[in-house]
Amino acid sequence: MTKFEIQELRDLPIEGVAERLGLHVERHKALCPFHDDHTPSLTFKGHKYKCWSCGESDDSISLVMKVLNKDFLDACRWLADEHNVIMTEESSRVQDSGFKVQQKPFDASRYERFFERPWLNEEARKFLFDERHLDERVVRWCRLTSWKDRSGTPWLQIPYFNREGKLIGIQNRNQIKGAKPRFRFPQDSQCVLYNQNVLNMLKPGDELYITEGCSDCWAMLSAGHKAVAIPSATLFKPKDIEQLSIINSQLSISFHMWPDNDAPGERLFMQLKEVLSNLVHHQLPPGCKDFGVYYLQTKTKTKTKNEE
Ligand SMILES: [Zn+2]
Repeated sequence: MTKFEIQELRDLPIEGVAERLGLHVERHKALCPFHDDHTPSLTFKGHKYKCWSCGESDDSISLVMKVLNKDFLDACRWLADEHNVIMTEESSRVQDSGFKVQQKPFDASRYERFFERPWLNEEARKFLFDERHLDERVVRWCRLTSWKDRSGTPWLQIPYFNREGKLIGIQNRNQIKGAKPRFRFPQDSQCVLYNQNVLNMLKPGDELYITEGCSDCWAMLSAGHKAVAIPSATLFKPKDIEQLSIINSQLSISFHMWPDNDAPGERLFMQLKEVLSNLVHHQLPPGCKDFGVYYLQTKTKTKTKNEE
């Protein structure tokens, strides 16, 4: 671990660190874990905390050390892991070898624990619940979590599990307000068919909706349907949905799709129809570019109706 990396940990948003430690932060304050506090006395400012009652104060590394009773190095490791900061001791092996490293499979063990206790920061909650009106149960089911990188950019972290529940890949989606989302994948992530867990719940005669991309899948699930997602129409390979045709022959599932209102969407439908001959086409109304938008429209309509 270098001085520079330690500084990066010190520069992590301290309120996020406190929340990850289980403190309830509201208006830059929390109940102080160092004395018997009944009104929030612990305050956060910059990268520091300070208790106005018992006088405890320091930075995020010290907060982790004291709350979790860890030594300095362990506190740094905990912070790095919780916030996806990659420390040299872990990444050096790959970078130091001058020769070409053989392709390693996706190292799920490095990431699994992020999804054991999913945590959503303010930006993620805003995006998922205020903007997308998603059902909280769906967000929990999908084990979505969030983090901030060194420059403070918030990211939504989307885990991909296989049917056996093993983590096989991660998609990071950044949440810069007003900007087109960017995506990042840890090395060798296998982000192919999304929400495979749902396949284990299918009963004979069930309906399964095939969507394009995770966010349409969340909307479809929030609308009360069983759904999986193909990551992108442009990158579709029939091999990716082999599992679905196997399930089809076992359980006679009826497959449904609301293709995106554009050429790649229709093309994806035609490609899928070749593999799943009973795939049903649903037409989005004109001006609705994808199911996510359609879901939002129906959501806001019912809301105004209820309010009237
Ligand atoms: Zn205190």
